This record gives sequence, C-alpha cells and structure tokens, in this order.
Amino acid sequence: MRSWFEYECIDCGKRQPPEKRFYVCPECGGLLEIELDLQYISERLDREALERKPLNVWRYRQFLPIVDESKIVTLQEGGTPLYRCRRLEEKLGIAEFYVKYEGANPTGSFKDRGMTVGVTKALEFGVKTVACASTGNTSASLAAYAAKAGLKCLVILPSGKVALGKLAQAAIHGARIVAVKGNFDRALSLVRQICEKRGDIYLLNSLNPFRPQGQKTIGFEIADQLGWGVPDRLVVPMGNCANIWAIYKGFFELKEVGMIENIPRMVGIQAEGAKPIVDAVRKGIDKFIPVENPETIATAIRIGNPVNGSKAIRAIKRSGGTAESVTDEEIIEAQRELARSEGIGVEPASAAAIAGIKKLIERGEVDRDEKVVCVATGNVLKDPEEAVRVSESPLETEPEEVLKVVG
Ligand SMILES: [Zn+2]
Repeated sequence: MRSWFEYECIDCGKRQPPEKRFYVCPECGGLLEIELDLQYISERLDREALERKPLNVWRYRQFLPIVDESKIVTLQEGGTPLYRCRRLEEKLGIAEFYVKYEGANPTGSFKDRGMTVGVTKALEFGVKTVACASTGNTSASLAAYAAKAGLKCLVILPSGKVALGKLAQAAIHGARIVAVKGNFDRALSLVRQICEKRGDIYLLNSLNPFRPQGQKTIGFEIADQLGWGVPDRLVVPMGNCANIWAIYKGFFELKEVGMIENIPRMVGIQAEGAKPIVDAVRKGIDKFIPVENPETIATAIRIGNPVNGSKAIRAIKRSGGTAESVTDEEIIEAQRELARSEGIGVEPASAAAIAGIKKLIERGEVDRDEKVVCVATGNVLKDPEEAVRVSESPLETEPEEVLKVVG
C-alpha cells in the first residue's frame, strides 16, 4: 500500500490511489470501497487515548481515512444511545434486546455519520458543490453538512415521494432541490450522469466509498457501549444497502486489530414490496434481481435496485446472518410498540428492523438466550404525516367536557 488507505474494487480487486476521486472502479465499473492498512493502524493504536475522547464518530479518528484534520466538518454526530429494552425483552421472550437509536443524530438519522467523513473529503478534494439523489434522509444530512462546510448542495428527489420532515430539512439548510418524475432509482442514475459530466461536483450518494467509513462507527460504538463486546445478532433495515456492509466492516476491522473477538450475525430487513436482497439470500444466490416498482410505507427503504446490494449479500453471508421481509402492517405495529413500550420514536424503515427480528424470534430462528441489537436508523419526526395517520386522532370536545373524556 502506498498510503494507509486506498480504494479497492470489490469485483476485480484492483486498487486506486486515495488522492483521486472515484465512485466506481475505473477498470471494471465495480463497486469501490476504502481498505485500511489494519497492520499500520494496529501498530499505532492507542486505546487509552481513544477512550479518553467523547463518544462520537471522531473518537475513532484512527480508523477514519482523513488526511487533513483541519478540514473536518462535524456537527458532533454519533454517540447515540444504546437503549436496553426490557419490556420488549419480556414480550419477545429474549435475553437481551437493545436499540441503537440513530434518530438522535444531528439531522435525525444515521446518514450524518457518513456525511461528516464524506463532506470532509469534499473539502480535501477542493470541490465547491456536493450532490446526491435521495429518498430523503441523505439529502437532509448532506444539506446540513454542506451548510456547515460552506459548500453548495444539489439534491435530486423522486417527485412527491419524500417524507415531509426530510424535505423540510433539505429546504431549510438551503439545498438546491430538484424533484424528478419516477422513483429513487431514476433520481440516482440522473445524479450520477450529472457528476460524471461535471468534475467540479462531488457525488455523495450511496456509491461514494467514503461515506461507509463514517457509518462503520455504528459498529464501533455498539462494541464500545457493550464494553468491547458484541451482540449475537445485529439487525439493520436495508434500502440502498450501504449501511449493513459498513457496520459489518466496522466489526471486521475491530476484530482484525484485536479489539473484539467475534463478528455478530448480520440480519438485513426489507419491506415486502421492495425485497430484492431477501429474495437473493433465500435462494442462496450472489446476484439479486431488481424490483421494478418498489412499494412500501417505509420510504427510506423503498428501493428496488440497491446500489450496494451485492455488498449486503456478502455481509450477510460472511457473518452467517440472514435476511427477512415484513409487511407494512407489521412495520406500523412495531413502530407503535417501540414508541409505546420503550419511549423510542422511529420512522417506519427503522421499525422494519424491529418487526423483522420479532418474526425471526417467533419462528424460533433466534435462540432465546441471544443478545440482539437493532439499529433504528431514523427519527419519528422524519415522517410526521405517517405517524399521525397510524395513531389515534385527538378527541375533540368542549372545555367543560374534558374530564369526562379523559376517563
Ligand atoms: Zn474493478
């Protein structure tokens, strides 16, 4: 290795120097990721110094591929709670059940972890504009980090299909928002074409190989919060599928440098109407067949052709994990249950993870003595209209009648 990190193609294995901007492999068009020289990190790793830093993404600086620390763009992302859910443990009949609440990030979703690294790279590369296509959370996050960095932000959204909370965020942070007809997959191919034509725009959608480097800190934090232990199972909702791979890589890196002993089984959950990866895992095949018209109430995972689908399949396979799908009804039920029995408000995609593991537990595929962590990727306020729709309406009454209806 010429540097302590490099791009590597997951298909042909060719490496590229990190000073250049790549989104896909220039040799074969395959997906790229950032490979760290773990030997180098391991030799320099100062665990005491790490543990003295506050719990957030940059506590793990030694694992983050940044060259110029003066360019770091941070809103103090990460350091999210790992809630032990005792009522759910009892209901589900499982030994230990935790929720890693990513809704507590600055813009209310896990995307902030990737953007602190991605937008810092944008400054290192010297661009003036960043861009993404998004189902909503990515654009909300990118708009905020671009604002913090003083960069222009271009966002391409599928018209009429973005939850209100997310649209509000991208708008208030000053992104140039373009809504296009069609679904997310269409918006994504458009923004790729734009960034290929315009060298001065840095693409920060899910193809960007640096974003998962921030997202892997979800795995770091969970291990850290469990006293450098790991759960038996790690449950993640899958949309574009970058997150499940990123978290898997986080655990993998920790194991390689000797900070943990095992990697948890990765469990990926998709919605019934958008489950190409679940189908592929069930069939035991490495290539997935895209879903033409993905549909689900969980807009954050309403994706039929996940860019990082093959990485997700790999993470599940290598960790001895599994994949499951859930209906919209199951998602809504899990969302209400988590909110009402544990006080944790999540958006539908996050609830999908809870609904999925519930199914696996009920079916006996998860042992009752296991320790399970679900990653709740986004805050309930991301989709306020959905939350109102699936809850009871307020009771309308005259002021003097209030006590009567309280019961
Ligand atoms: Zn390649």
